Amino acid sequence: MGAPGFAKPSNVVVLLVLLAVITVSCQFQVTPAPGHRRGKTSPRATSQPIASSLPPGRTSPPPATSPPSSSAPSSAPSTPAPRTSPVAPVYDASITFQVSHQDTTGFNNFHEWAVAGDIAMRALEQINFASWDLAWDLSGELTGTNRFDPQPTNQIAFDHELTFSNAYHPDIFVAFHIDGGAPSGVYDLVDPRDAQVNMPLAQLILDELVKETGLPSRGVQTQERLYSLEKPQNRATYRVLLELGDNVQDVHFLDKPANRQKMANAVVEALRTFVEKRNYPRTDTPPAKAVDEDALVHTDPRIVLAQQGWGPMPSSDWAGFKEYHQPRPSG
Ligand SMILES: [Zn+2]
Repeated sequence: MGAPGFAKPSNVVVLLVLLAVITVSCQFQVTPAPGHRRGKTSPRATSQPIASSLPPGRTSPPPATSPPSSSAPSSAPSTPAPRTSPVAPVYDASITFQVSHQDTTGFNNFHEWAVAGDIAMRALEQINFASWDLAWDLSGELTGTNRFDPQPTNQIAFDHELTFSNAYHPDIFVAFHIDGGAPSGVYDLVDPRDAQVNMPLAQLILDELVKETGLPSRGVQTQERLYSLEKPQNRATYRVLLELGDNVQDVHFLDKPANRQKMANAVVEALRTFVEKRNYPRTDTPPAKAVDEDALVHTDPRIVLAQQGWGPMPSSDWAGFKEYHQPRPSG
C-alpha cells in the first residue's frame, strides 16, 4: 500500500538514527523544557487488525502476569510510511494528545481506545517538529464520556489526563475518538464558546483527514459541554476533539492499518502546518516527549492485550514508550 515517494520504514529508521547521532554530536547546553525529558523514537511494527480482535464473547483482557517483552516482532511492513522528515525544523510549541479510554460500545467488538490509540501513536511517532505529551489514562475502567448527560462518566480518568496535559502547558490539545455515530465520515468538535479560536485548527485537521482518507466530511461542529474540551479544566490554547469515523459504518476502513496510518499522517500534516503558520519560535532544543507512567506501565492488562497480538500495538511499541515515561505531575 506504500504510496510513491514515501520512504520505506527501514530507511526512516536509518535516517532517524543518523539524525540522532548528528543531533547528539552537535548539541551543547541543551536543557529540556521544564517537566520534559528527551526520548528517542522507536520503529513501529505492523499492527494486527483490531476492530474484531478479541475472541468472541470476550469482554475484558486477561490478567497480566508478566512485564512486556522488549523484543521487536519481525513482521513485514504493510502500511504507508510515516511522513517524518529527519531535517524538520523544531518549534517551541507543545502538543497534547488525549486518547479515548472507551472500550466496546455494545455494537460489536470494536475497541475505541485501541483503534484511537493506534492512530494517535502513529501520529506521535512522526511529531519531530514540536514537543508532545500523551494524556491517556488506561489505569482504570475502560469507559468514559465527556458529555454532561447529566454528568461525564469516568471523570477521574479525564481529570488525570487533563492534569497531566496542563502540566506541560500545551499550546494545542487534540482528542482522539471514534464514536461519531452514523453515517460514515469524519468530523471534529470545538467548544462553541471558543469556536473562533479553535475553528481554524479544527478545519485544517478535517481538511487533511478528508483529503487523505477519502471519507466524507461531516464538518467542524460545535458541541456544548464536552468536559475535556472545556475551560477551566483544560488550559490548552487550542482545543479540538476528533471523531475519526463511525464505529459501525467505518469499521472496515478502520480495521486496515494502512488507513489508520493515513489518518495519523493527516493529523500530523495539519499540526505541522498550523505550527508553521502560527509562527511559533524556532528552537535548537530537541522536542520533548512525555507519557503518563502511572497510567500506562507495569502489569496493566492492556499491555498484555497488545503483547498477545490482540491489541493495536505490538509490545515493542509499549516498551519503546517507556523511554518517555513521566510520573504524573502532582497538583
Ligand atoms: Zn469516544
